[in-house]
Amino acid sequence: MSGIPGYLKKGYITPDELFGIIPKPSEERLRRKPVAVPECPQEIPCAPCREICPVNAIDMPTPNDLPRVNYEECIGCSLCVQICPGLAFFMVQYVGDRARITMPHELLPVPRRGDEVILLNRVGEAVGRGKVTLVIPREKSLGDTAVVTVEVPIELAWEVRAIKVPGDGEND
Ligand code: SF4
Ligand code: SF4
Repeated sequence: MSGIPGYLKKGYITPDELFGIIPKPSEERLRRKPVAVPECPQEIPCAPCREICPVNAIDMPTPNDLPRVNYEECIGCSLCVQICPGLAFFMVQYVGDRARITMPHELLPVPRRGDEVILLNRVGEAVGRGKVTLVIPREKSLGDTAVVTVEVPIELAWEVRAIKVPGDGEND
């Protein structure tokens, strides 16, 4: 009777669960330029990501369908990350042995470019430290949410989905 997927029950999705729903971008694509990946597994009537995409790279036949990105069409503009009200869009790029993750950031404070921040996984656990390479402040973001790009070890590319600015006592 319980047809509700485990990720909806527990409130977060693992990379394996995510890539059971949508395709994973190829390593070649991930190395070419940033690519947007929707982590939006719930069929809810919502489509601002599809509407804002300047190259129509987001396939969603109706607002109740799950978004799928045509990774070859995506130009990595981050507008979907900025506008998604569910904070469910991310961009990923592989650069050498690092990955750059672009994510919405609603917590305060907002970091500055060059800051070292605490990397959080989907559960909110600290998994390491990374360096902020780009910040779109809230005032310049389409969705009233700051967007931050952080460089992380490549093995954490599909784990890190939030950051925290270290507070007093959290700086090494
Ligand atoms: S990053 Fe830009 S081009 Fe890529 S899917 Fe999002 S809105 Fe479209
Ligand atoms: S805007 Fe965000 S929550 Fe809405 S369909 Fe797109 S990815 Fe999902």
